[in-house]
Amino acid sequence: MRRNKNINRTAYDAKMIAMDQDVYKLRRKVMDVIYEVKRNGYKIPRVEVRIVEDGQEDVMGYAYLNENIVHIKREYTNCENRLVHLVLHEIVHACKGFGHDENCYLMRSVIPRNVSVENSWKAFSKYF
Ligand SMILES: [Zn+2]
Repeated sequence: MRRNKNINRTAYDAKMIAMDQDVYKLRRKVMDVIYEVKRNGYKIPRVEVRIVEDGQEDVMGYAYLNENIVHIKREYTNCENRLVHLVLHEIVHACKGFGHDENCYLMRSVIPRNVSVENSWKAFSKYF
């Protein structure tokens, strides 16, 4: 029987965290953003969410283009505005296949200071 030792290496040297109750809660927060996307009428496929930890310090999350999987670093799930922005950003990578655009509020490679989710949602809508 294992407890939390089931660690898989993923991209950027981040480790997938085995699902325990805490991680499940974090994943739930990410899912809530995805449900909000759907509630707002955007058609996206089913997205798989993975909570990861460690790895490159500056990476907050990542997704492979068009793969419908988003990876979110555990430590970035605690600030709501930042999390919404991050999840929307990764959804555009994962579901729409767009890379970074430094002129886009949402898809620039670095997260804006004091994220305004209103701006994030507005920028998100341009990809649909
Ligand atoms: Zn990105």
